[in-house]
Amino acid sequence: MYSDFKMPVLFLGHGSPMNALADNVYTNTLNRLGKKIPQPLAILCISAHWMTRGTWITHLENPKTIHDFSGFPEELYKVQYPASGNPELAESIQKIITTPKIELDHDWGLDHGCWSVLRHMYPKADIPVLQLSLNMEASPEYHFNLGHELQKLRDKGILLVSSGNIVHNLRRISWDENAESLSWAVEFDQWVKDKILARDFKALQNDFLSTEAGGLSVPTIEHYLPLLYTIGASQPSDSINFEYEGMQNASISMRCISFGMPEEML
Ligand code: ZN
Repeated sequence: MYSDFKMPVLFLGHGSPMNALADNVYTNTLNRLGKKIPQPLAILCISAHWMTRGTWITHLENPKTIHDFSGFPEELYKVQYPASGNPELAESIQKIITTPKIELDHDWGLDHGCWSVLRHMYPKADIPVLQLSLNMEASPEYHFNLGHELQKLRDKGILLVSSGNIVHNLRRISWDENAESLSWAVEFDQWVKDKILARDFKALQNDFLSTEAGGLSVPTIEHYLPLLYTIGASQPSDSINFEYEGMQNASISMRCISFGMPEEML
């Protein structure tokens, strides 16, 4: 069924966990994406919020919904995303990707980087979801190369969803979601967009901290790293689409990117 079809690959900005409950242009974009992409057999999510030593994949029948944040309204803690897992698929991915070694995890579940976006894309939670962790001891090249390995899954009906934020500086946020964007945040977001369009993936791995705007936009790397999986899993023939562009809270880029979205789905 999927042998002649290559799944697109996505990078999604997720921002505040409150987006899980929102109904706005950004969440409508996610909903539209879920409808236009052919139903995946499974989703492999690379979230900014699962940081580990080594690379792990969830090996769980029923991953729990993790509420990995504090100080938010009660309503957000009641959200459940009851997608199943797929332990057999985790084992098969472990076999397909031999470098680096992927370990099987039995403790994680789905963190909010994952469920806050999938809740809008696939509200019925009827597609199995696995998560892949971020090895925080690894170089940017490691993440890019692993993304390149994951490209093999695109032919097998698996949707790769990376969830982070290109600009993510919580020390500089405004509590007003619609506050005017800070100039360095806009500058870096545009720099990333330009490098993606030029397919200058070396710069995206090596130069993102080379300017003051980059340093302010990526004060810690975990929200940036998921992007390296997306570009790593892309192919030169893939179309590039910026499915959503914009900032929230002055210093969080909500940019969402797809590679390889078939023409008829644009
Ligand atoms: Zn986050």
